[in-house]
Amino acid sequence: MRVVQVPLRTRFRGITVREAAYVEGPAGWGEWSPFLEYGAAVAAPWLAAAREQAAGDWPAPVRSSVPVNVTVPAVDPERAHAIVTRGGCRTAKVKVAEPGQTLADDEARVEAVRDALDAGGPDGLVRVDANGGWTVDEAVRAVGALDRAARGLEYVEQPVASVEDLAVVRRRVSVAVAADESIRRAADPYRVRDLEAADVAVLKVQPLGGVRACLRIAEDIGLPVVVSSALETSVGIAAGVALAAALPELPHACGLATVQLLTDDVVTEPLLPVDGALPVRPVVVDDAALDRLAAPDDRVAWWAERYAAVTALHVPGAGS
Ligand SMILES: [Mg+2]
Repeated sequence: MRVVQVPLRTRFRGITVREAAYVEGPAGWGEWSPFLEYGAAVAAPWLAAAREQAAGDWPAPVRSSVPVNVTVPAVDPERAHAIVTRGGCRTAKVKVAEPGQTLADDEARVEAVRDALDAGGPDGLVRVDANGGWTVDEAVRAVGALDRAARGLEYVEQPVASVEDLAVVRRRVSVAVAADESIRRAADPYRVRDLEAADVAVLKVQPLGGVRACLRIAEDIGLPVVVSSALETSVGIAAGVALAAALPELPHACGLATVQLLTDDVVTEPLLPVDGALPVRPVVVDDAALDRLAAPDDRVAWWAERYAAVTALHVPGAGS
C-alpha cells in the first residue's frame, strides 16, 4: 500500500489536504481514499472498490468519453460567470443554500451562470446543488425562484437533508430532483427508489463498493444516474469514468471534473476535461509522484491500522 497527501487549491468539505491510499493488484493500483473521519465499516466498501480496480475487474465501456459538469462554488456572480466561461463545459452545477447567503445571492449567481453558458450556444444546462441546506418550505420557494433565474433548471440536487423530505419536495416542485447525500451506503438507493424521492440518482463508486456494484444498483433502481467523484486523485476518478462509460444510458453530465481542485496528482496524465468531457482511457501511476507526495510515516502507519481494521470486519464484498 502507498499513501499520499495532496494539498487542495482551496478548502473543500472542511479539508485542505486530501489523503489517499493505493492498493496494488494484478492490474496495477486501486485508489482507497475514504475520508479520514470514517470508521472501518464505512471504509470497507471503499476498499472493495479499490480492490476491484487493482484486479482490473471492470466492465467494458460503451462510450469513449464522458461529459462532465463544471462546478460553481457559492461565489459572487462575476466569479461564477468567469468559472463557467473558463470551464468549457456545457453543464454547470451551481452551489446554492450556502449558510450566511440569501436566496437573492443564489438567484444572481444562477443568472450569471446561465448568461455565461448562453454565450457558448443554446444547449447549456444549469443544475443547482443545495447539499441539503433548505427546509421543505424553503426548498419549494427557492426551486421556483432559481428555475426562473436559470430560465429552466436541469435538476435540483439534494434540496433537503432527509430522504423523506426529499420525497415531499419532489411532489411540490416542477423541477427534477436528484439524490446525492441521501445515497451513501449500498442500501440507500433502494430507499430513494421505494419512496420515489428522486428523479436522478448521484452514484459514487467508492462508497457504494465499486463499479460493478454501482452498475447493479443503477439497473435495480431504474433511475438515470449521474456519476460523481469523492474528491479522488485521477486513479479514483478513473473508476468513476469506468462506471459512467459502462452505463447503458448516460443522459446527464457527470460530476467527475474534480481533479483541478487538487494541486498535484499521482498519474502521468491527470484526468482533466477536454471540451467538457473526460476521455475513457487508462491512467498510468507515476512512481515519482507517489514518492513526491508520500505521506509521513505516522500517517502511513495510521492507514495500515485502518486497513487491518477493515479487513478484520470480513464485510461481504470487501474481500479478505
Ligand atoms: Mg451534491
